[in-house]
Amino acid sequence: MLVKMPEYYREFKCIAGKCSDSCCDGWKIKIDEKTAEIYRSHKGVLSEKFEKFFTDGNYFILDGSRCPFLNNENTCDIFIHMGEENLSNVCSFYPRRIQTCGNVMYAAMNLSCPEVMRLVLEEREGIKYITYDDGKDAIKENDGPDILLIEETFRRIINDRRFSLKKRMMMCIFIADNLSENRDTSILSGYNDDMGVLELAQALPDESRMNNQDVQYEMLKELLIIYSDICLTRKHDSLTIELMREYKENGLNIPYINEEKYAPYTYQYENFITGCMFRYITECNNIEDIFKIMVRICVGYAIVRAVDAMCLKNYGNINTEQQIEIMHYYCKITEHSETDNHKIQSVIFDGGYDDMVHMMVLI
Ligand code: SF4
Repeated sequence: MLVKMPEYYREFKCIAGKCSDSCCDGWKIKIDEKTAEIYRSHKGVLSEKFEKFFTDGNYFILDGSRCPFLNNENTCDIFIHMGEENLSNVCSFYPRRIQTCGNVMYAAMNLSCPEVMRLVLEEREGIKYITYDDGKDAIKENDGPDILLIEETFRRIINDRRFSLKKRMMMCIFIADNLSENRDTSILSGYNDDMGVLELAQALPDESRMNNQDVQYEMLKELLIIYSDICLTRKHDSLTIELMREYKENGLNIPYINEEKYAPYTYQYENFITGCMFRYITECNNIEDIFKIMVRICVGYAIVRAVDAMCLKNYGNINTEQQIEIMHYYCKITEHSETDNHKIQSVIFDGGYDDMVHMMVLI
């Protein structure tokens, strides 16, 4: 069976108490049955706490917005008193994520973890991937879309620095729309070399024709109303919450930041986009959903850029620590809560913006 993973999958190390966020904060945690049984029968120092905070559905009841076992030093009391071997699957495996499709196993990582985001943003030359055969049989026959081919085609285009990032995104939006519409991956054969990609770039409109700032602003405004509402329900402080608070107070006047100001950060956006592609495309079971996934990626990129714009306006600059904070926070909101992710995506789907042209304008 083929195994594919980004290089940072192997480099990742949880920094626990030194983490600027914590995966145990702002997330309702459901644990596996086997571990739940261990906690229910525990007779040691944590038994009272298990009784108080552990529900029948195998959820921890949050203490405020935090996991009740996350102590004041931001480390885990279960880890300290019962050992790593007694952590639940979700606690010990996060932020890793395994997805199997046909004869390929994708080892992806949730971008909601700030340390994962740090690794993603570090790679100036783009994220590298490892593929190897582990010698085991495929778990099931591949009856879904050719995810490997789709993901590699998109990533090759996003990493093609002959073109502006907007143009690269426009090409991916076009292909995603085509795949969803025709449900046929054979169209990808036209883009598997430099010439095919160049021809596609030339066939699409110039980026300047997809820069309708009024329409872009309208979509961003609607997205940010929802995004800021969600952020402001969170209890802990973060740069994103500070910027969203200010956004609410000072109205909807988002400064439009031009390409020139964004230019030094392009490789970080490129990595953010390819990280999202690997994470979201590899869990796609239906080729019709590829355009929806592309919409999700465009929305994430647009919101992150808008929050960056506010950060630039406030601080006159944006450093990598701030970028990690802004990007991982967006991913945490959308990866940890299907409800919040749905609310954000609904702006596009219910607002009638879910077409190729609107997405090209949004990004
Ligand atoms: S968010 Fe990431 S680095 Fe922070 S505690 Fe969780 S796994 Fe560790």
